[in-house]
Amino acid sequence: MQHLIRTSDFTKDEILAIFEDARAFKEGKLSKVLEGKIIVTLFFENSTRTRTSFEIAAKRLGAEVVNLDVGTSSQKKGETMYDTVSNLNAMNPDAIVIRHSVHGLPESLIGYVDCPIINAGDGRHSHPTQAFLDLFTINEYFGGETEGKKIAIVGDVKNSRVAGSNRRLLPRFGIDVNLVAPDCFKYEGDEFKQFNTIQEVIDDMDIVMSLRSQLERHNITYFESLQEYAKDFCITSELMNRKEFLLLHPGPVNRNIDITDDVLKHPRCKVLEQVTNGVAIRASILKKLIL
Ligand code: ASP
Repeated sequence: MQHLIRTSDFTKDEILAIFEDARAFKEGKLSKVLEGKIIVTLFFENSTRTRTSFEIAAKRLGAEVVNLDVGTSSQKKGETMYDTVSNLNAMNPDAIVIRHSVHGLPESLIGYVDCPIINAGDGRHSHPTQAFLDLFTINEYFGGETEGKKIAIVGDVKNSRVAGSNRRLLPRFGIDVNLVAPDCFKYEGDEFKQFNTIQEVIDDMDIVMSLRSQLERHNITYFESLQEYAKDFCITSELMNRKEFLLLHPGPVNRNIDITDDVLKHPRCKVLEQVTNGVAIRASILKKLIL
């Protein structure tokens, strides 16, 4: 049995096979392979896209989904996470999808279950299904040619788990990762080129991934207002016109802070394509882990 905690849980060949199934799913060619299966989702942090896309993916493949409402679960009566998960496991689900604010929590549950655990985001650490759908979107956009492409990941690279998963995944597919952030959001490592402004790198980039400032993970206020931050890090039509790059954002987008209103409608802005691909990738991952 396999779990998905981080992108390195899958080999390159496994990832390419996931992409093949995701393409089949998009073409309506994946049948109801998960008929009779039950997937439990447990979200301890907010979610729009990830939770819904897991549910839609599962249902399209014929599975049923049980969303535990953590706000009204017995954790409110003092039950530990491990007891909650052991009890869910005793009902024999076929997979458990979990999001939590604590780094490492999904992984720590592996010893308590007999089914795959899928990490849907753990604190600042990782968000593997997001990184897979990002890479899939890049791969489709460039017709399968990712080798040698350059990406600028822009914004709160320090606190974003999307940045975390992507900076570990994309280099495995030959993509050169550049991080662009103000000092307060800089990544604390030296494996990547880091820049202070988009202007310095934009002419060289094939892909720009804009990120939301992860306010829920800041314990101090870094900017008087996000408008201050936006002056230097918002993706504007001026940048779009300067260089032909693919623009991505994992969502939720802070409009006119991360990306301007008009750029969100630009044909090279693939934010909604990422959402569509998210369903296909999650369907493919559920199929791989459950069957
Ligand atoms: N939705 C993504 C996440 O859960 C990105 C974000 O929230 O900024 O990490």
